[in-house]
Amino acid sequence: MEKQKILDIFMKSEALLEGHFLLTSGLHSPQYFQCAKVLQYPRYTEQLCCVIADHFKDSNIHTVISPAIGGIVVGQEVARLLGVRSIFAERENTQMSLRRGFDVKPGENVLVVEDVVTTGGSVKEVIELVKSAGSSLAGVGFIVDRSSGKAKFGSDQFSVLQMEVVVYQPDQCPLCKQGLPLVKPGSRKAV
Ligand code: ZN
Repeated sequence: MEKQKILDIFMKSEALLEGHFLLTSGLHSPQYFQCAKVLQYPRYTEQLCCVIADHFKDSNIHTVISPAIGGIVVGQEVARLLGVRSIFAERENTQMSLRRGFDVKPGENVLVVEDVVTTGGSVKEVIELVKSAGSSLAGVGFIVDRSSGKAKFGSDQFSVLQMEVVVYQPDQCPLCKQGLPLVKPGSRKAV
C-alpha cells in the first residue's frame, strides 16, 4: 500500500490530527497521533495488518505474540491473516509475562507484533520471553515506527509506516509564533 493511502486511513479515522497540540510531555507539536483510533475500525485494521502479514507470509510463522494492550488487536489480525494462533504478553507487577495458559514452545517460529514502536521497550521484553522459552524469533512487525530509526530488534523488522515525531519547546514553537490556537488532544478546545 502506498504511503499516501496509509496516511489517508490515519486521517479519516482521526488517528492522526494536524494542527497545534499540547502533548502530555508539555511540548508542542504540529501533529497528534493515537493509533487506537484507527484500530477501532476493523476494516482499516485489516488493511494495515495485511501489509504486515504479506511481508511475513513466507517466514513460516507458527505463532504471533504481542505486548498488551496496544499490540493485541494488531497481533490478532495479523495471525488471522496468516492462519496461525495469536497470544499476548502482559505486565505482571513490572515483568512482561505470559498468563492465561499462553505459552511458546521450543522450536516454534514466533512473530512479535506491536501497534506503535517509540522506544521499543515492550517489544524487546517480549523478544526476551520468546528466546528464553527456546523459540525462534522470526521477526518483528508493527504498524507505526516512531523511533526515527532508533528501534532495532536484531531480526527481520517491518513497519507499515515511519512517522517522524515533531515536537517544540513551548518558548521556541513556530506555531505559537504564528498565533495558532493551542489544542489539548481529547478536549477539542483551545488551551
Ligand atoms: Zn506552540
